[in-house]
Amino acid sequence: MAGTALRGRLTWQTATVKSVADETDRVRTISLSVPDWAGHRAGQHLDVRLTAEDGYRAERSYSIASAPGEPVAITVERLDDGEVSPYLTQDVQPGDEIEIRGPIGGYFVWDGGAVPLLLLAGGSGVVPLRAMLRHRARAGSSVPVRLLYSVRSLPDVIYRSELSAEPDGVQVIYTLTRQQPPGWTGYARRVDAAMIGEIAWPVAQAPLAYICGPTNFVEAVAADLVALGYPPQRVKTERFGATG
Ligand SMILES: Cc1cc2nc3c(=O)[nH]c(=O)nc-3n(C[C@H](O)[C@H](O)[C@H](O)COP(=O)(O)OP(=O)(O)OC[C@H]3O[C@@H](n4cnc5c(N)ncnc54)[C@H](O)[C@@H]3O)c2cc1C
Repeated sequence: MAGTALRGRLTWQTATVKSVADETDRVRTISLSVPDWAGHRAGQHLDVRLTAEDGYRAERSYSIASAPGEPVAITVERLDDGEVSPYLTQDVQPGDEIEIRGPIGGYFVWDGGAVPLLLLAGGSGVVPLRAMLRHRARAGSSVPVRLLYSVRSLPDVIYRSELSAEPDGVQVIYTLTRQQPPGWTGYARRVDAAMIGEIAWPVAQAPLAYICGPTNFVEAVAADLVALGYPPQRVKTERFGATG
């Protein structure tokens, strides 16, 4: 059984696009139908492989946006000069087939638990954290959660209506780094040590932190949390690459 599950994760398989939904003007969620899916945990990712007509192949990783038990979905942000993300955000249509393999990763996962969660997202780094929030809701967990979400402007907020629902025990704090709407009273700068100091759960509560986003964001925020006294093994990180 374990062998079958492992083979399923490491083998490329064909997924069919079930639906696409625009989250912002640069970001799209793609729901997939995957015939041989072993199930996933909140925080894992999958690999997508695209093959051009001349045989050229490109592979990229994408966090799984859906909770365990929900259909597999990914949320992709378009980089205009990118190879893969423009195709996934502009061209892919329901009924199309794409190659995937997964789920992948066992470190940046949240299976549930009783300690407060501190989630820190930079841009599309919110994707696996959203899977954790959905998992919490589906499991009926009341564990307290704070999500600090750094994003350029309000229209760039991914999952905006879902996050604004703020279920009991979940607090979403935005920092809008480039543009703020009139009357904005929230944070309006890149995440820094002072901001982390204001929003982080006290170390005495033994919180767990998950940080995801561009590499420079993740490294700066992780360093700030460790400086605040968070033990490094309680600060889990996922780097999407490049800079923010
Ligand atoms: C574990 C993991 C999970 C990921 N999950 C997601 C996800 O849920 N959603 C998502 O949109 N992306 C995610 N990514 C990033 C994704 O794998 C690709 O790197 C991204 O889509 C760009 O691919 P591309 O082919 O379009 O651009 P490329 O052709 O690879 O790069 C084009 C240009 O953009 C720069 N660049 C590459 N990656 C980034 C980046 N992340 N931010 C800013 N500039 C960049 C490159 O330096 C280059 O200049 C994840 C990456 C990892 C490692």
